[in-house]
Amino acid sequence: MTLLADYAAQEQHSLGRRFAEEPPTYRSEFQRDRDRIIHSAAFRRLEYKTQVFVNHEGDMFRTRLTHSIEVAQIGRSIARILHLNEDLVETIALAHDLGHTPFGHAGQDALNACMKDYGGFEHNLQSLRVVDELEERYADFPGLNLTYESREGILKHCSPQKARELGDVGQRFLNKQQPGLEAQIVNLADEIAYNNHDVDDGLRAGLIKLEQLCEIRLFAEQFHVVKQRYPELTDRRLIHEIIRRMINLLVVDLIDHTQQRIAEVNPDSIHDVRAQTEMLAGFGEEMQALHLELKQFLRHRLYRHYRVHRMSAKASRILSALFNAFMDDIGLLPYDYQQSAKDYEKQQGKPGRARAVADYIAGMTDRYAITEYGRIFDAAELT
Ligand code: MG
Repeated sequence: MTLLADYAAQEQHSLGRRFAEEPPTYRSEFQRDRDRIIHSAAFRRLEYKTQVFVNHEGDMFRTRLTHSIEVAQIGRSIARILHLNEDLVETIALAHDLGHTPFGHAGQDALNACMKDYGGFEHNLQSLRVVDELEERYADFPGLNLTYESREGILKHCSPQKARELGDVGQRFLNKQQPGLEAQIVNLADEIAYNNHDVDDGLRAGLIKLEQLCEIRLFAEQFHVVKQRYPELTDRRLIHEIIRRMINLLVVDLIDHTQQRIAEVNPDSIHDVRAQTEMLAGFGEEMQALHLELKQFLRHRLYRHYRVHRMSAKASRILSALFNAFMDDIGLLPYDYQQSAKDYEKQQGKPGRARAVADYIAGMTDRYAITEYGRIFDAAELT
């Protein structure tokens, strides 16, 4: 690893773990965090969770696992130039989607609606819950017992009420402070990754067309550059060449402008970064506008496409039906979740029971949710 900047997350100034542990022998504390995530059950399940397309729609599309790896790649490239902590960036990137429900955005909305009277459901908070509570791997503590800096990065946003309940990592939302630069970079690397791969997957699925994308400036500019230089290129290679150039433009702009802001503010520690009223990482104004245009295009043309909506509507019916069935009869849950439902209900009443059901459903992959729905509702499966 290259020398860390003063404003980077540094192990010797870490705010530590919730449960004290001996330091690792040959690894840094942040390497240990990353390794714990890679060995977790929630991380393996990302392979069968999706964002826009349901997993069985085809093997060609991104899953949350490949997405998380893409975010880690983009994040690390940026971190290295800015002399930030690459291990921490990788940790946050690999963990950022651990709490996602099956069926992407549709699943999250459905589960949030089911949990409306029981404290709601938010995938960001759930990612933190996975690493703090739900993973069962270590003798000495629940969860993965990650460092404060990793947990801070995983919690991207949160309501004031939840922030109060969370304590340490929630405090910055009440104080209107920022997370460290490593967390800020992963957040933006996430946006760069999903906007670009949604263009790629959307085109491959035939839901959006090249001509439509040429209405978008960021895409159109690269389209013309590539077309002029390689007039004979096949569509497949043309698309990939445009996408790689878009990612590169976004990354370079992000690095340049973040470097500028760092030079202006001149923070001498991560505490200085946290104390800022604004994020230090960000695109320049012009790129910000171009990126927003691309995001809005995807929202209208892809996420609201009727074929995506059909998948989403079906997904949301499956999750709501499962939720209601488990709430009405926790005897349908596997034994360990039955036990959690009873324990939480004893402590918190009905919201406790709902939380155990939400934990079970949120942990499902797309295909597991479909199978589970069949096991509970399909009469043919009785035979
Ligand atoms: Mg993501």
